[in-house]
Amino acid sequence: MDKAPQPLSGIGLFGGTFDPVHIGHLRTALELKQALGLAQMRLLPSAQPPHRAQPMASAEHRLAMLKCGVDAEPGLAVDDRELRREGPSYTLDTLAGIRAEIGADTPLCLCIGMDSLVNLNRWHRWQELTDYAHIVAAARPGWHLPNAGAVLEFVRRHRALDVTELQATPAGKLLIVEMTLLPISATGIRQALQRGESIRYLVPDGVIDYINQNQLY
Ligand code: ATP
Repeated sequence: MDKAPQPLSGIGLFGGTFDPVHIGHLRTALELKQALGLAQMRLLPSAQPPHRAQPMASAEHRLAMLKCGVDAEPGLAVDDRELRREGPSYTLDTLAGIRAEIGADTPLCLCIGMDSLVNLNRWHRWQELTDYAHIVAAARPGWHLPNAGAVLEFVRRHRALDVTELQATPAGKLLIVEMTLLPISATGIRQALQRGESIRYLVPDGVIDYINQNQLY
């Protein structure tokens, strides 16, 4: 007899500055949601990124653009807790907060780029991230891990070989998912706008309207 399909469970998190959100973010978030069998993927705008320059658009505008971007897709949602928190936004605090809300049993997947995984040891109390969530790294074909060091050790210790391992436990695993990422960046979009060029088809139409109405970038 055929087995009934597993009900979707689990929550994914896809963080970024989203300055502005573009279809590279949205398409990857949706593909990861599907690949991981998650009930929901939350886009998580960051307030004061500890690792990089301050965003150009205000938190309020970045949040409004993100809400426009996910509007048409019920599987995607926006979680604005880092914008509401005072001080630097540490991912570990975010994961602890979400874990407290969803309970101990629901799988939680922190989705990051391979570039972030390679530099994970720069994150605040990074070795504790897997106490609260799985880590999923989206990697372009041809990706490679560092040859040695603490991150490589961490990957070896937590590595899952397929998605069923992540669905079977709430946290603690690390999965590398190979994906073709669209060659789009928020930096490229801001530069195109500064040159007076069109960003149509790179950014959802509602987000373009918002950018124009508010004269951003
Ligand atoms: P910027 O150009 O300002 O650095 P960005 O386009 O890289 O911005 P971020 O908000 O910094 O966007 O990225 C949020 C997350 O989205 C990160 O995990 C990043 O790796 C990922 N990301 C960025 N661009 C793409 C893309 N084209 N496809 C899939 N994921 C992307």
